[in-house]
Amino acid sequence: MRMRNKPWAEDFLLAHAEIVSIDEARKGQMREWFNNDQPIHIEVGSGMGRFITEMAKAHPDINYIGIERDKNVMIRIVEKAVEQNITNLRLLTLDAEHLADYFSAGEVDRVYLNFSDPWPKTRHAKRRLTHENFLKLYQVILKEDGEVHFKTDNQQLFEFSLESMSQYGMKLKNISLDLHTDEPADNIRTEYEDKFSSKGFRINRLEATF
Ligand code: SAM
Repeated sequence: MRMRNKPWAEDFLLAHAEIVSIDEARKGQMREWFNNDQPIHIEVGSGMGRFITEMAKAHPDINYIGIERDKNVMIRIVEKAVEQNITNLRLLTLDAEHLADYFSAGEVDRVYLNFSDPWPKTRHAKRRLTHENFLKLYQVILKEDGEVHFKTDNQQLFEFSLESMSQYGMKLKNISLDLHTDEPADNIRTEYEDKFSSKGFRINRLEATF
């Protein structure tokens, strides 16, 4: 997701430091930030944040953390969280490659990956969020029975992910090649999900454990 550069992005995010962190001060402090023992679910690459904000409202007994590396995009999530006074949501402006610096081993109950950038060129495969290098990070921060939930419209990325996760030894379940036919009542559509579904793309989904 590309958004026009907003020179005021950093100041805006700093002014909302109670819910969003743009520096390293929160490293290893996730539990303290929420100040409760609720399970932690994270979304990597939250974009404009409809999914993570709607999930947080629907499940007040879970702590949600949205991770988005683009500060210009992060603004949109902060606006939603503030306007709707969502208290069980925190946000990290962070590249996912640094996840293990921020979360303790086994601290996270679930990782959501929604419509991750496909990086179609083979030479960019390591940037895909389901590449083995990222799976290693999720394995460290997830609890033993923690789950990865993944949705994408992109057929090539889905096939790559099925292979990458299987080769890594992950167990896959609840695989759907067309989520919106018989859509589960609790499915929260992301901004990209709406956009690509309305263009006729089928939505793929899977759940996986290590
Ligand atoms: N999940 C949203 C949705 O479904 O509408 C956004 C999808 S958008 C295609 C992918 C988002 O992931 C972008 O906002 C991008 O900045 C973010 N992203 C990509 N790679 C990332 C990484 N390594 N770490 C953190 N965010 C990342």
